[in-house]
Amino acid sequence: MSLPSSVDVAIIGAGAAGLGAAHALRGSGLSMIVLEARDRLGGRAWTVQASPEVTFDVGCGWLHSADKNSFVPIARQLGFAINTDLPPWGDRAFGDAFPEVERKEFIRAIDAFYERLREAAKTGEDAPAARYLEPGNRWNPMIEAVSTYVNGSELDRVSLLDMGAYEDTTFNWRVRAGYGTLIAAYGAPCPVALNCNVTLVEHSGKRIRLETSQGILEAGKVIVTVPTNLIADEAICFSPALPVKLDAARGLPLGVDDKVTLALEDAEAFPVEGHLRGATMRTAMGTYLIRPFGQPCIDGFFGGRFARELEDAGDGAFAAQSIDEIAGFLGNDIRRKLKPLRESRWAHDPFARGSYSHALPGHAGDRAVLAAPVDGRLFFAGEATSPLFFTTAHGARDSGERAAKEVLAAVGGHN
Ligand SMILES: Cc1cc2nc3c(=O)[nH]c(=O)nc-3n(C[C@H](O)[C@H](O)[C@H](O)COP(=O)(O)OP(=O)(O)OC[C@H]3O[C@@H](n4cnc5c(N)ncnc54)[C@H](O)[C@@H]3O)c2cc1C
Repeated sequence: MSLPSSVDVAIIGAGAAGLGAAHALRGSGLSMIVLEARDRLGGRAWTVQASPEVTFDVGCGWLHSADKNSFVPIARQLGFAINTDLPPWGDRAFGDAFPEVERKEFIRAIDAFYERLREAAKTGEDAPAARYLEPGNRWNPMIEAVSTYVNGSELDRVSLLDMGAYEDTTFNWRVRAGYGTLIAAYGAPCPVALNCNVTLVEHSGKRIRLETSQGILEAGKVIVTVPTNLIADEAICFSPALPVKLDAARGLPLGVDDKVTLALEDAEAFPVEGHLRGATMRTAMGTYLIRPFGQPCIDGFFGGRFARELEDAGDGAFAAQSIDEIAGFLGNDIRRKLKPLRESRWAHDPFARGSYSHALPGHAGDRAVLAAPVDGRLFFAGEATSPLFFTTAHGARDSGERAAKEVLAAVGGHN
């Protein structure tokens, strides 16, 4: 839709958070619009058809903490099929690259690490999570690799208290049509102006003035849902400046996580939903899912500094790395069966600049600081503001709903 000149509420960003906010304001009597810089809904939720046989979630894929995930009832209501098979992450890996005895030892080492984190978090004192690695343990590099998948960052830059605050109920489900497809369908009824990049939020006057790539819009209230790195880099500016928000966003940087999908020939010879990884003893490693939903492909996942290096190496680097690593595990014959289909480069995406937020050591409290409203007129949502489900799409959606309720409370009896 085209940009109106004035609304009661402007929502910046049509990701899960912005769409959650828009839904919560529907029927309130307030006029509203969602302003989205991209030409599509969903933000970091994005499903593509990588080939006629392969549906691929470039961003979020798992309905984490599914028993508490607000997208589960939404998916059911919208008629999306949910796959409740649990992920194979802890299972024995396909092939011989990660023998059973080694796997058990690794699981013992990582469980013991998490236990030390839990104990340390009870003191309430923050520290880099890396401090709780056991010195000299041979599994440390691979425990770091898991952190790059979970946090988008190595443990030296991750707050112990923030990691401890995340609520993982261990139920991880999926949407067969793709999480991105679900979130786009959820957003379909909302009023959204696409290709509308907001560069300035001017909030000194009676009405808030937004400068956008489609012109000026005035609003009574604004909900900001853009990723923290865009606030931290001042890709979106506030006038008067909001140094407290800037500091909070800088304390909650987006890490880097990327995905790749490779077409797999002779797929029937490989296990459906098979897990593939090696006892590489390195942090610079991928983790792979063979034939998700039975599709003829292998998906790879990379994180942290290694993912950033591969992004910097240019298009095709994730696929090339995956094929080399998989050939190292399963033998060179597999090379001719694998063909690059699609890969992400989230840190290079101008409207994301990373994957999901983690708190730097000493900054676990920044999530609440970022979430707090300013002057009863500026409201903040997005995965980074979620107290328990940060990093996730449902945490983002719930935060949008929370911000919309704050708007409704602020307008009080006026609607
Ligand atoms: C590789 C990867 C894997 C992931 N896996 C999972 C998973 O399995 N499960 C899970 O729950 N989560 C996962 N996530 C995280 C999840 O995708 C995000 O937490 C969630 O989608 C964030 O929603 P949001 O609304 O906070 O932000 P976004 O989705 O980033 O939405 C913000 C929107 O604001 C727009 N925008 C930015 N700047 C401006 C501007 N100046 N003006 C106008 N619009 C602007 C952006 O284009 C974007 O659409 C993953 C993410 C990645 C990258």
